Parts: sequence; C-alpha cells; structure tokens
Amino acid sequence: MKRIVIGGGASGLMCSAISAKNNVETILIEKNVRVGKKLSQTGNGKCNLANLEMSLDCFNQSNLVQKLMQLYPTEKVLDILRQDFGIHTFGDNFSRVYPISENANSVVDCFRIACQKYGVKTIFDTVLSIEKVQKGFKVHCQNDVYFCDDVVLATGLFAQAKEKRTFFEQYQTALHPSLTPLMVKNPDKSLDGLRQKCFVTLLKEGKPIYKEKGEVLFRQYGLSGVCIFNCSAYVARSKVKGENAKFEVVLDLLPTIEQKEVQSIVESRGTWEKENWFLGILSNKLALHVAKQSKDVQKAFQKAKRLSFEVVDTLGFDVAQCTSGGFDEKYIDENFALPNGVKVCGEIINVDGLCGGNNLWFAFASGHLVATK
Ligand SMILES: Cc1cc2nc3c(=O)[nH]c(=O)nc-3n(C[C@H](O)[C@H](O)[C@H](O)COP(=O)(O)OP(=O)(O)OC[C@H]3O[C@@H](n4cnc5c(N)ncnc54)[C@H](O)[C@@H]3O)c2cc1C
Repeated sequence: MKRIVIGGGASGLMCSAISAKNNVETILIEKNVRVGKKLSQTGNGKCNLANLEMSLDCFNQSNLVQKLMQLYPTEKVLDILRQDFGIHTFGDNFSRVYPISENANSVVDCFRIACQKYGVKTIFDTVLSIEKVQKGFKVHCQNDVYFCDDVVLATGLFAQAKEKRTFFEQYQTALHPSLTPLMVKNPDKSLDGLRQKCFVTLLKEGKPIYKEKGEVLFRQYGLSGVCIFNCSAYVARSKVKGENAKFEVVLDLLPTIEQKEVQSIVESRGTWEKENWFLGILSNKLALHVAKQSKDVQKAFQKAKRLSFEVVDTLGFDVAQCTSGGFDEKYIDENFALPNGVKVCGEIINVDGLCGGNNLWFAFASGHLVATK
C-alpha cells in the first residue's frame, strides 16, 4: 500500500514514521522548506509535549478525545516517543512533560531522523487539492501530481500559519483563534507591560466557568499570560458554536490575602491618602488604576479583589497557539477517516486543548492511531 501524508508537523511526522515502520510505503509532503517548523517553536522553544494529569476538562467536548485517551494514555505516548524516536522526557512540578534536552529543535531532529530511518520519502511541495480516483487518490501539488491508495491530511489549521488553505470545508465547523491573549473593553494603556500574580475567573453570561491562579500580563489591548490563554479557549469555543455570549475576566489582585485580612488592612488604612492605600501591596501603577476608580479605601480593596474586564474577543490567528474548530467529529469514523475516505489527524480536527501539552498529545496520539489503522 502507498500512503501520502500531507503536512510535516507533529501529527504528520508521527503518522509518516509509524506508517513506514509498519511497512507502508509512505510519502510525506510538506510545503515549508523543512519539517516541524511549528513544533520547533512550542513550549517557548522547550516543547511541552504532553501532560501527566491530562483530563477531558482540558478539551472542548469531544467523544474522539475520550476514545483517544483510552487508547493513548500519556504514558503510552511517552513510551512511543522514547522507543520509536529516542525522545526521553521528564515531568515538571505542574505535570507538564518536556524532552530532557528541553529543546524543541532536538525533538524535530528525532522525528526527522526516525522518518529517514524507517524509509519515509519526504517531498517539499504545496498540496493544492486532493482528488478521489477509481483506485485511491490523486494529490495535486504546486509542482507535481502523485497517486496513492491512502491519503492523510495533517496540515494543521490557521494558528500562526502564513497561508490559510483548507480542504473539504463541507465537513468543517467555523474556525476561531484560540490560546491567545484577550482584547478587553476600555483597556488601561498605562498598565502595558505590567505583570501581576492573580486569581483569574472567567464568567460567561455572569456565571463562573473557569478559574486559574497565575500571572497576568497587562497589554495595551487587554490581558495576556498562560491563564488568559486558557480563558481564550472558552471564548473561542463559544464563537465556533455561533453563540453571542458575554464574557468577563475577573482578577483577584490579592490572591494571597483572605477577605478577613483585607478588612483589617482596610480599617488600618481608612485615613491614609488615596495614593498610599495599596502601599506595599500592589505596584504603583496598578494601585493607581484601582484607587482612581474607587471612592474610599473599602471600595478600592473590594475592587482589587474583583477587578473586572469585559472581553471583546480573542486576538488573531497570527498569535494563536491553536485553532478552535476544524473537521467535525460527526464526519470522522473510528479510523479517523472523513466520508470521502481521506484520513485526518492533529489540529485540523475540531479538538482543542488548554495549555500544558494537551495539543501536542492529541497531535501525536491521533497521528499514531491513523498510522496503525
Ligand atoms: C508558538 C506555539 C507554541 C505552542 N506550544 C505548545 C506546547 O508547548 N504544547 C502543546 O501541546 N502545544 C503547543 N502548541 C500547539 C501545537 O504546536 C499544535 O497543536 C501542533 O503543532 C499541531 O500539530 P499538527 O501536526 O496538527 O499541525 P502543524 O504543526 O501546524 O503542522 C502542519 C504542517 O502541515 C504543513 N502544511 C499545511 N498546509 C500544507 C499544504 N497545503 N501542503 C503541504 N504541507 C502543508 C505545514 O507547513 C505544517 O508543517 C503551540 C503552538 C504554537 C503556535
């Protein structure tokens, strides 16, 4: 059997190498001049490739993910990475898994070398369309045409992609940038660049739907930081469903100070000048931001415990780490094939996970499953 895998990213590299290892004649077609470009940028260059405490809550609703989690628990994916690719890993204090090299380029090298070793033929060309023919598929590229019995689409989607080409849109949901900073209504531009440890709550139509403790980075357009990226996933998923929901991010700027303690601080500072209300508690700029919106010290501390921002939208695909939306699971069978027989893996499927290694786990697991079906 001859298989063409389109896209040399995390999922396509996994799928190609394992197909070839299993004696399937495999051609990998990649439009960039090298494979694994996005993979080499993951995890701030360190490649957070899985999570030891993966849970369904980290993903948009998906039966596919549930099935895949049973077939590919994290330990199994890590065994595959070690045994078939020579990628040895460790887990950090937050259960995030990294290669022991802590270097994403070295992960790409391991995949590239394994593809060579197992006999994958890599062609650098852009696929323009896929045509179903009597015996298999005809893959039309910019420079050539290829025939195969089996074709796998692993082209990812729009997150940080220069060119936005899609295939078989009839099987796709709407798409929205996810794992991005958030634009908020009336941002205070004077706070740009300021970092603050917070307890973050995301409200949808007034109801809390997500909470995380972490560092928030204030930007001219709104808010950034890993916990804000995670909030953006919920906003993006809601947009993909076509909802017009109102989202609000609420920051507790004093996460280490209990309400009781706040009260005693307020009482001791009742007569202080406004500019000193948060002396030794918040940075000057943030203290000023909160104080100027408050009539008295009591209100100011209430605001610091509940500083609210109305979300306008997620930021664009240019800065997104993943795409919310993609091939709808209702069109994907147990072999990860669409109704036209084209198989799919990775980000191109409507599965998106929160930060922490979930998206790469999905890319690796789905790529492996397609290779072995
Ligand atoms: C900056 C950044 C950091 C990230 N960090 C992490 C992290 O630490 N942990 C984590 O789990 N996830 C992370 N992600 C998400 C993760 O990288 C993606 O989920 C994952 O790479 C998706 O893999 P994929 O193979 O489906 O798609 P991609 O990696 O996007 O690969 C698709 C490949 O297909 C090629 N291609 C596209 N169209 C064509 C065509 N027409 N013809 C030929 N080739 C084509 C592309 O050039 C590309 O090489 C990060 C993403 C970004 C952008």
